[in-house]
Amino acid sequence: AAMRKSRIKRTKTVCTYCGVGCSFEVWTKDRKILKIEPQEAAPVNGISTCIKGKFGWDFVNSEERLTKPLIRKGDRFVEATWDEALTLVASKLKEIRDTHGPESIGYISSSKCSNEENFIFQKFARAIMGSNNVDNCSRYCQSPATAGLMRTVGIGGDSGTIRDIAASELVVVIGANPAESHPVLATRVKRAHKLHGQKLAVIDLRKHELAERADLFLQPKPGSDLIWLSAVTKYILDQGWEDRAFLNQRVNGVDQYIQSLEKYTLEYAEKTTGLSKENLIRLATMIHEAQSVCALWAMGVTQHIGATDTSTAISNLLLITGNYGRPGTGAYPLRGHNNVQGACDFGTMPAWFPGYEAVQDEKVRAKYEKAWGVKLPEKPGFNNHQMVEGVHDGKLKAMYLFGEEMALVDSNSNHVQAAFDKLQFFVVQDIFFSKTAQFADVVLPAAPSLEKDGTFTNTERRIQRFYKVFEPLGESKPDWMIIQEVANRLGANWSYKHPSELMAEAASLAPVFAGVSYERLEQWDSLVWPVAPNGEDSPLLYQERFAFPDGKAKLFPVEWTPPYEPGVEYDLHLNNGRLLEHFHEGNMTYKSKGITHKVPSEWLEVSPELAKERGIESGALVRLTSPYGVVKVRVEVTDRVRGNELYLTMNSFDDGSAVNYLTSSYHDRITHTPNFKEMSVKMEILEPT
Ligand code: SF4
Repeated sequence: AAMRKSRIKRTKTVCTYCGVGCSFEVWTKDRKILKIEPQEAAPVNGISTCIKGKFGWDFVNSEERLTKPLIRKGDRFVEATWDEALTLVASKLKEIRDTHGPESIGYISSSKCSNEENFIFQKFARAIMGSNNVDNCSRYCQSPATAGLMRTVGIGGDSGTIRDIAASELVVVIGANPAESHPVLATRVKRAHKLHGQKLAVIDLRKHELAERADLFLQPKPGSDLIWLSAVTKYILDQGWEDRAFLNQRVNGVDQYIQSLEKYTLEYAEKTTGLSKENLIRLATMIHEAQSVCALWAMGVTQHIGATDTSTAISNLLLITGNYGRPGTGAYPLRGHNNVQGACDFGTMPAWFPGYEAVQDEKVRAKYEKAWGVKLPEKPGFNNHQMVEGVHDGKLKAMYLFGEEMALVDSNSNHVQAAFDKLQFFVVQDIFFSKTAQFADVVLPAAPSLEKDGTFTNTERRIQRFYKVFEPLGESKPDWMIIQEVANRLGANWSYKHPSELMAEAASLAPVFAGVSYERLEQWDSLVWPVAPNGEDSPLLYQERFAFPDGKAKLFPVEWTPPYEPGVEYDLHLNNGRLLEHFHEGNMTYKSKGITHKVPSEWLEVSPELAKERGIESGALVRLTSPYGVVKVRVEVTDRVRGNELYLTMNSFDDGSAVNYLTSSYHDRITHTPNFKEMSVKMEILEPT
């Protein structure tokens, strides 16, 4: 028995699913995962995990893992050696760049991959290929929140930590479903609410678990958030409840902003949002009475045409009431993927170097040009929306994408897939043969987090180390190694031996990571950026200064944009979102038996009223049609939704389709984040029960 026990290995890792950033020990024997054991020392979750963190790891050993490079030959893919595949990738990318210019290639990075892998990929795009056409999936989720916060307080991330949220007197949750999307964070809120008298206000279309527990739950009309936010802010000002001292000392643009609110009366808000005056006053009063208020929001806010403006309105409300810079206050745009924060932070964005220094800033560019010994492109590149349109317009000829199921998760899937079809050359690097890989010319087998070293950054800006548990399966390799090998075949002379060297390089270039190093991230140690050169980190932002040159925040006037409506024949509003058990399109959780045996498939939520009107019951099969596509799905009748509102989970269906076959290509004006939440459909009944 002693022998057997000694072969059990315990390795610290960080969850590869949501942005909460739970960490725990993985117990393994050979390639078998025995259990996941959370530890007190974990800075975010302590001894908690959710079902995905606990049971969602079998995908690592799935028989469907890619283990060899694949090259397209006509309609088939054939196995190739690494040398053949990499030589082909390098020669085709070079040929297309030399013929059509560096702007003719797009680079999509992965929020599932590490900070170091995102760093090396943006360096590859910029320094080796000469293009800023590099983006990641934050474009599909929190880019509008980042933009709204950059306008008002200067840093695009969460203002404090998850523990700070638990310390708040009032938590306002807008367009987010943390109990399913950020489960361990939701547990903290539930506990504070139950045991410590924390108040909870939820504003959402759908009566989800936190909504059921809330002290105040409001269901506005879809797409009307900016109006009620502005009306509540105006009411607070009209009552003289604003934090004058805070505004005088720490905020610019106050008078102009107050003037901009003139039309947002309670009467106007009641008419346009469907929320009663009494309820808006109740919310304003709760905010006024709480000593500390924090706002949590997610895709219900950010996946709209006016999303940056609505995110700005949330931040404006927090500024007016002095709710920044103290524990329990601040803005929390909840990040989706485990490392979407880090992907942005480490520069896979078309306008930003690592640490949010602008590519257009000459001084910053000069710093990178000196360090990398190359001339860098001056103009911001294409974001992923512009890449898709660029392919359709003939400007973009090739793409290199890793760890992103773009064929299903970008909006208007048919349009996106048609773009992939037109590409002259498409490289996809993934752990599975994804839907996106079906369109590739070369598929490169990558290794998931358990097969490599690295760091992830969670929603609260916390950088955490994960350690290699197994060797990469078959011939698969860590993404950073593959990118290095492609770069070296294109004239680079890189010799990174370990991700710590990439982190050291990022720390030497980006001031917000100045004090980050692997020595300071050993095991359970973590750092919350900005990190000073001496290693002191910043869990709570804005205690003394906002992140603008004069240290003051800015109130930023905004206008409401009505949501997109496809036309009267599409009579049902379609909302969509996550499910506790499955993650996004399901590429990883569908391959984890511990999860699929609990929740095998997706469904459509239909209100009892609508089900009665249409004569259907739970289990009915329906066809949903939008101007962009069609899906077939089974119905669940539930009072979580009301009236003509439908709710569909975003994991993919048995036939390979998913909710984004229905969504459009319209997007937030500022950030180009698709308006996933602005869709109406018609529903036909195929089987009533
Ligand atoms: Fe992983 Fe998020 Fe669940 Fe934590 S809450 S275990 S980070 S999926």
